[in-house]
Amino acid sequence: NAYHELEADGLIQSHVGKGTIVSSSLSSTDRFFDHLSGIEDNYGLLPTPVQPMSWQNFYSRQSERMYNPVLASILTEIGEEDQISFALGSPAGEYFPLEEFSQIGQQVISSGNWQAFEYGPTMGHYPLREYIATWLAQRGIHTQAERVMILSGSQQGLDLLAKVFLEPGDYIVMEEPSFLGAIGVFKAAGARILTVPMDQEGLRTDLLEQILARHRPKFIYTLPTFQNPSGHKMSLSRRQELLRLAYQYHIPIVEDDPYSELYYEGKLSPSLKSLDEHEHVIYLGTFSKILFPGLRLGWCVAPPSVLEHLTLAKQHVDLHTSTTTQWMMTEFCQQGLLDQHLIKVRNHYRIQRDTMVSALTKLAPSGLTWSVPEGGYYLWCELPPGMKAATLLTKAAEKKITFVPGNAFFINPGGTDRIRLCFSRHPEATILEGIRRLCEAITEILIQ
Ligand code: PMP
Repeated sequence: NAYHELEADGLIQSHVGKGTIVSSSLSSTDRFFDHLSGIEDNYGLLPTPVQPMSWQNFYSRQSERMYNPVLASILTEIGEEDQISFALGSPAGEYFPLEEFSQIGQQVISSGNWQAFEYGPTMGHYPLREYIATWLAQRGIHTQAERVMILSGSQQGLDLLAKVFLEPGDYIVMEEPSFLGAIGVFKAAGARILTVPMDQEGLRTDLLEQILARHRPKFIYTLPTFQNPSGHKMSLSRRQELLRLAYQYHIPIVEDDPYSELYYEGKLSPSLKSLDEHEHVIYLGTFSKILFPGLRLGWCVAPPSVLEHLTLAKQHVDLHTSTTTQWMMTEFCQQGLLDQHLIKVRNHYRIQRDTMVSALTKLAPSGLTWSVPEGGYYLWCELPPGMKAATLLTKAAEKKITFVPGNAFFINPGGTDRIRLCFSRHPEATILEGIRRLCEAITEILIQ
């Protein structure tokens, strides 16, 4: 707080990466009036040159907290053709149901129904909300269209939740490691993030109670199924224990669930939302991983009062999610194409996971270890002792191969000896070539 006050008075300046430094003794208000008087000078008889705009003086503290270099670099690498990226968590382009979407697009356009191209309700296109509610019921989440809100991707859901729940300084709980997009949003909101370690069975609920009792966080953010980045699946007993603790301490749970439909062994895991008997869970889903992310279509299931708040927040962000895309998606779902598509991609991604795992088994230098997830998109690897992901990233870049270094998923210092590999995006031959290059890069560092 002292730092914030000093910064508000313009006595210090914080820069991401550079730290906090003493600034000129002028307050930011003084600097603002200086700037204005600079402009007035231009109306004098002897024109003085206009000073370059000093944008730095105008940015909010929140905008400085948004700095997220890893996310930015993952997004900019899209489109670099000669690069094999195991970084981006994206489905494979070759499985996008483009023919179906092209037909549906034609139908929606030629129907002449202008409502598909108009502004629409903030909560979303009702038939799509209805479809999602019915679809979720088959997955044990018994809800109604009125409780489903359409989002422009589940990332937007995270941002809206931060807007409606968090004040700077509020506590929230996350498992560590966790999704870097969520860490970014919650940090930007000024939240103080309390972390709980994970093991093979997911978030360590035995370490959670103490934290809940002591800090009363605003919510617990968790990814129980095929977690990003670890691939772990929370066991049923942990899920039950997590809910029990949430009920006991009256803490909401935000369940982020983009991957549960992509299971390659056994069957669908029960979501926390499906086990929740007392409306403590806010559920986020998305079409990005099961269909394609360019749709920017996700959804949130939440109690009415939370939805009212989210609606107000969304009105200020984008009014509503693209009407045209929602109409197309509704048609896709109502024609029964979603479930067909899921059967297809589960099969493909299982083969891709197995391809990556067997390539590693064959080529990995000693000391490199990895998890084999039952679903989702990611292998979570531990580098040979002493090797840093940052060193490997540089070496791998020379060989046109990339991944996400583990520390991007940590809130506390950590994960520098870990890397996340995404197996969903490339066909098998590219996976084999990518793993070959990666293992070569690791070996070269080992023998240096
Ligand atoms: N949550 C998790 C755990 C994710 O992995 C992602 C995408 N990487 C998102 C949310 C965001 O997905 P969307 O495209 O729906 O915004």
